[in-house]
Amino acid sequence: CGIVGYTGPREAYPIVLKGLKRLEYRGYDSSGVALLNGGLKVYKKKGKVAEMEESVVGKDVHSHIAIGHTRWATHGEPNDRNAHPHLSQSGEIAMIHNGIIENYAQIKQDLVAKGYLFKSDTDTEVLLNFIEDIKRNNDCNLEEAVRIALRRIVGAYCILLIHKDDPETIIAARKGSPLVIGIGKGEHFLASDASPIIEYTKEVVYVNDYEIAIVRPDELILKNLGNDKQTPFITKLDMEL
Ligand code: GLU
Repeated sequence: CGIVGYTGPREAYPIVLKGLKRLEYRGYDSSGVALLNGGLKVYKKKGKVAEMEESVVGKDVHSHIAIGHTRWATHGEPNDRNAHPHLSQSGEIAMIHNGIIENYAQIKQDLVAKGYLFKSDTDTEVLLNFIEDIKRNNDCNLEEAVRIALRRIVGAYCILLIHKDDPETIIAARKGSPLVIGIGKGEHFLASDASPIIEYTKEVVYVNDYEIAIVRPDELILKNLGNDKQTPFITKLDMEL
């Protein structure tokens, strides 16, 4: 039900953790974080954000990129396995998702026929392995694979993805579920609403439906699903509040 992301020079985990706590008011049943520390690391747990936080104590969470999620289960009961982030079959991509993929059953059937194994009962893991399959078959980058996949998806989504070999880039996209990107100096913040972002920057971009954002510390690229660049419209938060 909530998403948070960070890419930049600071320690990402504490920022994402704090952001998840700011989004707790939206309601949720589980939470989790993915970061890059000698490979992709995923920590997730049923229950309160504080319980996930507890399970991470003592782990090395040093990372300059992270994505975090609070889940409101729609497909699959609330448990650790179904909590987000999910890892793709190869373990190379981590993804979080708010929303519902309506045509997941058919896609899942096709992927199972190709030999994909699913670790959760979620529609989210189906979309993620669909993206991975497209990436492999087309030998394209993650951004391209996400774009191709989303053209074939029916439903609502806000998704954030990170790849194990790209320590700077968060790929994000939305349709129907909200996504705000905060613009800092050499850093970017992503969230479902402005509440996790406002203490760091007042300059935000509200991503539109059917847009993909390629987010790096020094760069924010917005594209539509046809791969045309869109000009980000920057809103000043304090004027709005
Ligand atoms: N449909 C996804 C799930 O059940 C995402 C739910 C959400 O928006 O938190 O895992």
